[in-house]
Parts: sequence; C-alpha cells; structure tokens
Amino acid sequence: MSIRIERERCVGCGACVEACPGNLIKFDPDGRAFIRRPEDCWGCASCMKECRSEAIFYYLGADVGGRGALMQVKRDGAISRWIIRGYDGATFTIVVDRKQANKY
Ligand code: SF4
Ligand code: SF4
Repeated sequence: MSIRIERERCVGCGACVEACPGNLIKFDPDGRAFIRRPEDCWGCASCMKECRSEAIFYYLGADVGGRGALMQVKRDGAISRWIIRGYDGATFTIVVDRKQANKY
C-alpha cells in the first residue's frame, strides 16, 4: 500500500509534507513533492486528503480492490469525492460531506 504523486500536477504547496505523520514526503530541487520511501507508507491517506491539486493517488491493496486499483480525492468545498478506479477501468465514487464527518 502506498501513494503516487503526479509530478506535473503538484504546485508545491507543502500541504502533504505537513500532513504526513511519517515525514515521508519531500520536495525535489524543482519544488515538486515526492515520496522518498514508498515502502514505508502505511496508507493513512492524510496527504491525499490535504492535496488541493488532485496530485496524489493511492494504490489500493488486494483486500479492497487491488490489482492496480487507484483512489483519488477531489474536493469541492465541504464535499470530498473519493474516486476509485478499478483494474478494469470501472470507477466508483464515495461522496463525503466533511461537515458531517462524525457520521462516518
Ligand atoms: S498515505 Fe499517510 S503515510 Fe503514506 S505518504 Fe501519505 S500521509 Fe504519509
Ligand atoms: S499537497 Fe499536492 S500540490 Fe501540494 S505539495 Fe503535496 S502533492 Fe504537491
């Protein structure tokens, strides 16, 4: 389980660097974020929840879809859309109202 940061989408805001409890995300010399030890990522998703540029993708483990499935978060005000793209290309979206976070 790990993340992938799409370099061309990163605007270098640093939100993911601040959010990662494992201090795993750094900036390259061009000011774009990268994960320095993907094998140490435990998949907490804190970084992707903070990224406003939709630059961070999350690999899903085999137990929850796996086989190349990716998840991405898109934010629209208080609404977060967790978009899962399966290995077969099918997509599934979970909509979360962050103001109602205690419900989930
Ligand atoms: S998923 Fe969690 S542990 Fe992994 S890089 Fe993002 S913030 Fe760090
Ligand atoms: S939060 Fe997103 S845009 Fe900001 S530094 Fe991290 S990857 Fe780049």
